[in-house]
Amino acid sequence: MTSPPAPAPARVVSAIQPSAELHIGNYFGAIATCVALQDRYPCIYGVVDLHAMTMPYTPAHLRANTDRMIVDLLACGIDPQRAILFVQSQVPEHTELAWIISCLCSYDELRRMNQFKEKAEQLEELGGLQYASAGLFNYPVLQAADILVYRARYVPIGKDQLQHLELSRSIARRFNQQFGAFFPELEPVLTETPTLMSLAAPDRKMSKSLGPRYYIGLFEDEAGVRQKVMAAVTDPGVLPPGIKMSPGVANLFAILQACGETATAGALLARYEAGDRHYGALKAAVADALVALTTRLRARRAAILDDAPAVQRQVAQMSEQARAIAADTMREVRALVGLPAHRS
Ligand code: ADP
Repeated sequence: MTSPPAPAPARVVSAIQPSAELHIGNYFGAIATCVALQDRYPCIYGVVDLHAMTMPYTPAHLRANTDRMIVDLLACGIDPQRAILFVQSQVPEHTELAWIISCLCSYDELRRMNQFKEKAEQLEELGGLQYASAGLFNYPVLQAADILVYRARYVPIGKDQLQHLELSRSIARRFNQQFGAFFPELEPVLTETPTLMSLAAPDRKMSKSLGPRYYIGLFEDEAGVRQKVMAAVTDPGVLPPGIKMSPGVANLFAILQACGETATAGALLARYEAGDRHYGALKAAVADALVALTTRLRARRAAILDDAPAVQRQVAQMSEQARAIAADTMREVRALVGLPAHRS
């Protein structure tokens, strides 16, 4: 008697686009969760270079940013002993699965995606030769393939990506209904840290697209961090009735908590609640905590860069490991959807 196939392990999968610079929002919103999960599950993390082609880019920057993102993630604590860190374009099974599942996703669903609407608008504002490409439109399908090709169960993401994850869940369910139960039910893993806002404009999410004045780089030097924190927008000390705490002040407390400075945050909150509306001490505490974090990360990055060729070799190996898992999935997917097996 043959035994039933073993259930897929509860894998964690997440991906991040290569970009010139990470900021503390990326770290507390997504990367720190990925690092923490390595102790509990098999984890697969990707630098998704194909996604970075959906907005205007130059080939040289794409290559450099991909290499840099790998080093940055290793510096943040993604550990090759406990996780697989791969480059998306080295695993062509992602694009193959993306095509198959794009046939399980409607035009209307993709049209409703907020990120597509926002980025299409940005491109329209740029004008000239820019246009919203079919790649940008299909972005969430490739993202679903990034996750499903490893038959992921848990997906650490920032809250701004929940709409895309919901689409991935629908696609997986549709696949299972049509072709037989195959993909596990996906679950997001959200951080407890609220979405971090820009210190210079606390009504807007901290984001690279706003420009360097509006975010704090994860590897930024001490002077830059202190200058941005001390210039953070707070409030004039008198709030309109009904407003509990201004967004700028709430954001500073959130950063302090995210840095693990719970006792300091508690003491400063007690002062705030007692009516003290001077924010100098709060800003100094946030600056100290962020300087400690960025200094530590810069040192780790420098140590990794001491042997850059070793990093390249390691990532090539890990991409091969990822490919072996993805290839297993695709063998089964091809059979389920009615495509012939690849000749090996
Ligand atoms: P950006 O908005 O700077 O371009 P990305 O869209 O590349 O950042 O996001 C990479 C990851 O970081 C995503 O998982 C996203 O949810 C998370 N993230 C981005 N900005 C923030 C923020 N301000 N607060 C919390 N998480 C964030």
